[in-house]
Amino acid sequence: MEANVETKREFVIPGDYIGVAEEFLPGDGAYEENGKIYATMVGNLDLDMSRRSASVISRTNVLPQLKEGDIVYGEIVSVKPQMVYVDLLALEGHADKKLSANTKARIYVSQTDKKYVKTISTEFRNGDIVRARVVDTQGDSIRLSTAEDSLGVIRAVCGVCKRTLENKDGNLEGNLECKYCGSKETRKTADDYLKAKL
Ligand SMILES: [Zn+2]
Repeated sequence: MEANVETKREFVIPGDYIGVAEEFLPGDGAYEENGKIYATMVGNLDLDMSRRSASVISRTNVLPQLKEGDIVYGEIVSVKPQMVYVDLLALEGHADKKLSANTKARIYVSQTDKKYVKTISTEFRNGDIVRARVVDTQGDSIRLSTAEDSLGVIRAVCGVCKRTLENKDGNLEGNLECKYCGSKETRKTADDYLKAKL
């Protein structure tokens, strides 16, 4: 059924599908849900055929400081009325390197989309993975923007059952639905939602 799904990807991010439970046991940085194994962290995928384990190995090389204009990937960890907090996971093009010191970032409601956004909770939810541009590195937390077509959520988590949401009827305007529980939700999606590779 899922036998042809690519499992040899070098780098994975939290929530990435990495194998089936009949083939592998979840090792470090991995968990099993409904017979499938997913990554819990960013790192190198390690499929150990002899021990039949699927693990994620954390990265050891460290990147220099992020700068304005950089494209980064992160996970939404907290949604406030006017902003969301993001845990930075990787710099585009350098997914093999760990981010140094400051991995906390925020996106303000005004920098969510090109169009006016009233409430940020219609655009992001906890657990979503986003691609964003670094717009300010001053101050105690990096500021990000998703106000470009190619930026925004690349994988959204269902607010009800926590599974991955899909584009509703191939709609690319951020109208998403859950195939499992039927929840219909909106997000500020990137134009390659669910097709993005780090
Ligand atoms: Zn659901």
